[in-house]
Formats: sequence, structure tokens, C-alpha cells
Amino acid sequence: MDEEKLNIPNAQSAAPQDKDGRNMELYLYSLRKMAEHNVESNRTFMTGLYNLRAFQYKGAEVMRENPDLKYAMILMDLANFKTVNEFCGRSAGDELLKWIASAFRSYERELVVVSHFRADIFAMLTPFEKEEELVAIVKQISKKIADFKIACKVLPAFGICIATDPFMPVSYMRDYASLAMNTIKGKFYCNYAFFDDNMRKQMLLEKQIENDIVEALETGQFRVYIQPKVNMETGEIIDGEALVRWYHPEKGVIGPNEFIPVLEKNGFIINVDVYVWTEVFRYIGERLEKGEKVVPISINISRLHVYDDSFKECLVRLKDEYHVPPCYVPLELTESGFVKTADLMYQNIKDLKKHGFLLSMDDFGTGYSSMAMLRTQPVDEIKIDKGFIDDMNNPKSRIVVSNTINMLRELNVEVIVEGVEDKEQQDFLVECGCKRAQGFYYYKPMPMEDFFRLLQ
Ligand code: C2E
Ligand code: CA
Ligand code: CA
Repeated sequence: MDEEKLNIPNAQSAAPQDKDGRNMELYLYSLRKMAEHNVESNRTFMTGLYNLRAFQYKGAEVMRENPDLKYAMILMDLANFKTVNEFCGRSAGDELLKWIASAFRSYERELVVVSHFRADIFAMLTPFEKEEELVAIVKQISKKIADFKIACKVLPAFGICIATDPFMPVSYMRDYASLAMNTIKGKFYCNYAFFDDNMRKQMLLEKQIENDIVEALETGQFRVYIQPKVNMETGEIIDGEALVRWYHPEKGVIGPNEFIPVLEKNGFIINVDVYVWTEVFRYIGERLEKGEKVVPISINISRLHVYDDSFKECLVRLKDEYHVPPCYVPLELTESGFVKTADLMYQNIKDLKKHGFLLSMDDFGTGYSSMAMLRTQPVDEIKIDKGFIDDMNNPKSRIVVSNTINMLRELNVEVIVEGVEDKEQQDFLVECGCKRAQGFYYYKPMPMEDFFRLLQ
């Protein structure tokens, strides 16, 4: 730091003094010097770049002292640094980090602050005029990284946040850049993303869902809807699927596609699932006891349950507590959601099958291991994804659908098609030998009471 520019106060000056006679200006100056010293000592050991704390301090200072400029923060993370360490060794990993640090350091100058937060995360705060300048920086750094001689492919991902004003906290910029970065992490075809307003709205929505979820569970804001599954030839309701809805006191009814991804991140999907399952078992149990008509109602099992052993016990307990034969509650699972933990999932399912539960494979055709699963796993029902029949006018789609149905019939698994919306789709499916469907053409999901009234 240039001592001349710092305007060191004179101890003898007639500056304001505190009640003990201390020179306040000098006192503040020494506090500031201490902070600066702290920053200088806050460099990352391996690369010598500023660490996170120092970066935030320096970045805020630069922005505050030059408020007429526009600023952006560029955050970078490697999508596969762990693999680099594992396959090429830690020392090669360290060399790579030093190489990246030198790429970032080459931008370091007055008003540009660069940092190595930790591990494989680097950042830069820089003034700019046009967004293209930021994209050019990203491309140059990517190119430099690609030049590093190493046996693994290194995949950097960049998130860019443009400051809304020069007093925007650097920590917010970091959060926003990180959010943008996570939208593209691991993608080969795109390695940077700007934080935009949609992302901000999504983040606020996620925060609101996180804040409201506990109260929602405690005050019974979740309701179970059932969508009937029908026999296409007779129109008869043969089954149902339980689908959750959130009756939010301010936002009205929220669909699961909006809140389930958030609940899967924070784990609360487990509580919501257990609530839905309990309602289904309770309702079926009560009707069986009264001798009323009952059909199987399938329940959705979030992939998060695989990590939580208690879900098996929970299902077994529910069937015992409400005296419901488990064939009345088939389990819908999406295989693609379990790619990394498929073995564990199938083991859990096999245990549950011993208790009499049935497995329904949801969204068939959207995951990439569905075919292998057909050969080896004990599937009772396949639900062909809506995407398969969305394009019925395309002759190739018709070939795929009819042959898929044929194959599944030969394998002796029950087949149902999801998302049937019109008569044309129905007629084609019946022609292909498929009997069961679920879709708006027949019924939309409805409150559980309405479903059982309809069944009666
Ligand atoms: P899913 O299991 O594939 O459920 C079918 C979804 O397709 C439902 O959306 C349903 O309303 C919709 N659908 C049915 N027929 C048609 C149609 O003809 N056209 C169109 N466009 N859509 C149709 P929903 O209820 O919004 O649920 C979305 C997803 O949320 C479900 O997909 C499921 O993955 C998840 N989900 C819903 N309830 C639960 C739950 O209690 N627990 C868990 N873990 N996931 C749930
Ligand atoms: Ca489902
Ligand atoms: Ca589905």
C-alpha cells in the first residue's frame, strides 16, 4: 500500500480527542493499519493469493473508493477436481491449482482483486464496461487451464455476478455468482453463466419455502390429491396415485414441481412423504374396515429415502398400524433419480417386496439405465413417461412407443402410460395393446375425499 496516499495523521495535530485524551484520528488510523496487516497475512498458503476474508475486505474497499465504476465478480470452481486428485495424484492437483492461481494473478492490478478462496475455488473482482470483457476473461482463463498438461480433463465452471451498486456486499456477490455457477457446473457445452433476475427470484422462492416449511408441516398445509388410473377400454378406475399439494396461506395452492426440488435439498421431503404415506394408509385402512370399495393407491418415494434406513421400517409400521395389505400401496420410484445409489435402492426394495409391497417404475424412458433394470430387477409395473406420447404425429415416435409396449408385455410387467391428454393418444395406445392409462383426458388429480366419493 502506498504510504504517501494513505495520508497518515499527525499525532500532534489538533484532531478530536476522546475523554482520555487519545488522538482519535491516530487511533482509527492504527486500527485500519492493523486490518490491512491482517489482510496481507490472509493469503492462501499454497498460491499466495488473497483468501476469502481478505478478498471481501479488499473488494469492498475498491468498490467503495471508486464508486463511479461498474463491478463484477467472477467465481470459478472445478467441476471434477476430486477426480483430478484421485486419478492424477495430489501433487498434480496442487500443481494445477498453482497454474490456475497464476492465470488469475495475471489480472491482478489496481482495482482488480483476485483470490483463492479454498481448494479449487478462485475469484476475481474487477471493474468493467461491457459484459463481453468479462466473457473474454473467462475464455482466456479457460484456455490457460486447458493448456495445463494433465491426464484428466479439467472442467472449470464460472459464475458471474454484476454488482447492482458499488456498495453491494461482496458476500452477496459471491452467493449470486455461486448460484449462477451451479446452474452450469459439469456441463461440457457451456462453462459460464451470469447471475440474472430469474435466478434471484428462484433463490427468493427457495428461501421462502425453506422458511415456511416447518410451519406448513405443523399446521397441516399439505393435502393429498389422488389422480385416478383407468382401464382405457372400459373407462373404469382401477388405481390411483397420491400426489401432494401445498395450501400456502399467502401463495395459494403450490404444485410439487415448485417445492419438491427445494425440499429434496434440505431433506424435508422425507417429512412430507411420510405425511402423504400416512394419509394414504389411514384412508385405505378406514375404508377397508368399513367394508367400502378400495383400489390400490400408489405413493411416490423420493430418492432421499435411500440414505435413510428408517423408510423401510416406516412403511412396514404403517401397513401394520392401519391393517392395510401392502399390495394396496404400490411404491413409485424414479430410477434415474438413483443412478449413483441404484444398488442400495434395489436392496431396500427387495426387502420391502418380502413384506408384500409392489414396485412401480416411474417416468420410464427418461433415465438411462432403465433397460438394464428390466433384465435384473423385480419390477411389477412400468409407468411410461408422458414424453413418449407427446409427439404421436411423428412416425418414429409411434414405432418407439408400440415396440416399447410390446417388449414390456412380453416381459410380463404391467404397463401404464402417463399423461394421456386426448382420444387420439388413447386410440393409438389401445391399438398397441396397452390397457391402462393416467392422464388429464380422464381425470386430473383431485382431493382424496373426492376420489373415494367418485369410486363409491
Ligand atoms: P409424477 O410422479 O410423474 O406424477 C405425475 C404428474 O403428471 C403429476 O403432476 C400429474 O398431475 C401430472 N399429470 C398427470 N396427467 C397429466 C396429463 O395428462 N398432462 C399433464 N401435463 N400432466 C399430467 P404433479 O402432481 O404436479 O406432480 C409432479 C411430480 O411431483 C410427480 O411426478 C412426482 O415426481 C412429484 N410428487 C408429487 N407428489 C409427491 C409426493 O408426495 N412425494 C414425492 N416424493 N414426490 C411427489
Ligand atoms: Ca409418480
Ligand atoms: Ca411419472
